Amino acid sequence: MITFESLGLSEPILRAVKAEGYDTPTPIQAKGIAPVLEGKDVLGCAQTGTGKTAAFLLPMMHRLSKNPQGRRRPIRALVLSPTRELAAQIGESFERYAKFLPLQHTVIYGGVKQGSQVSALRKGVDVLVATPGRLLDLHGQGFIALEQCEFFVLDEADRMLDMGFIHDIRRLLKVLPKQKQNLLFSATMPKSIVQLASTFLHQPIEVSVSPQSSTVEAIEQQVMYVAQPDKKKLLAHILYELKCPTSIVFTRTKHGANRVVQYLEKGDIRAAAIHGNKSQNARLRALNQFKAGKISVLVATDIASRGIDIETVSHVFNFDIPHESESYVHRIGRTGRAGASGKAIAFCNEEETADLWAIERLIKQEIPQVLEHPWHHYPAFEKMIICRNEGIKKAQKKSQKGKKPNYRRRRRRNR
Ligand code: AMP
Repeated sequence: MITFESLGLSEPILRAVKAEGYDTPTPIQAKGIAPVLEGKDVLGCAQTGTGKTAAFLLPMMHRLSKNPQGRRRPIRALVLSPTRELAAQIGESFERYAKFLPLQHTVIYGGVKQGSQVSALRKGVDVLVATPGRLLDLHGQGFIALEQCEFFVLDEADRMLDMGFIHDIRRLLKVLPKQKQNLLFSATMPKSIVQLASTFLHQPIEVSVSPQSSTVEAIEQQVMYVAQPDKKKLLAHILYELKCPTSIVFTRTKHGANRVVQYLEKGDIRAAAIHGNKSQNARLRALNQFKAGKISVLVATDIASRGIDIETVSHVFNFDIPHESESYVHRIGRTGRAGASGKAIAFCNEEETADLWAIERLIKQEIPQVLEHPWHHYPAFEKMIICRNEGIKKAQKKSQKGKKPNYRRRRRRNR
């Protein structure tokens, strides 16, 4: 059996891992730590929640601390994250894992004043965790020197591209030294990521812990059919009925998130919203209140969904079905983390059925339907559900014959 000791990590790191209560490495750690320790480039396919942060931070810290740079502290490792939340969480993880090592780090992201970030950089840091915009901004102003960077980690690369950071990444690769160890992690491996990886990874070791776009097995998924105006009532009802201790609710829009929070608060359910219109401090405050158990519901948009690392999320609600099927996988990955169980409930209205079916095609499974709930009485659905069930049966028959199910054709026929 692979243990943290057998991987050859140094004693201060083993002590920190023990203090975190980690008994055994997660699969991505068991596969990914050794090649990083050997100095190899790594292309990792792993979702958030699989323990991938430690998979790159622990061996990176090991290598950095074996070769200390004294008091000068040039930036020796750069970790790039698509969102502020993920950057903050990588920073927090670093602090915990490096607590017995003499390594310094700082986290920089936009949306807040740059003063304190600049003074942290001036003091000198070994490891810089950053989002692309602020990094390039401070680099342009001359506050960041990357010439001595030995490690470059690109985290959540697929989300990075979704968010349009490809040009920033290319600009950054030009200012980073050619000779360095590169690690790229992504929840999915579409062609665009493989292409990007080929531009800067040298003979990477590929590690993958879950098949592309598979949903975390520990998560119990459900879908409930409900008209849009009734969704908030259904949500409040379930939160009361199931006494959900910690839930994240995903809405498509920022205003939608605010409206859900207002409704829940009227019903005495303590909730807060995190989305792009909230200041970085407001977002972090909401996250901290949630972590401390002061609020039980966090209502978020997709931008905020990545990188929310809270170990005890019991329920994820897809208040709106996402247009992008991949987002569903990322959203529900907020629960069932590191082997814990979790529940993901999706609310689907009449217009969202096509998106729901696209998700089912992507995850290659049928999401169990719950028809017994107070707001299910919505006649237009009955026909749709019957069509869907018939369609799935037909598709299953076809796929048993070795043919791929063709949901799209079925949908057109049913219009
Ligand atoms: P990540 O995928 O890096 O966001 O990690 C997800 C969660 O798993 C975090 O809350 C970590 O604290 C936790 N975790 C990471 N590695 C382990 C491990 N070996 N054993 C138990 N929990 C872990």
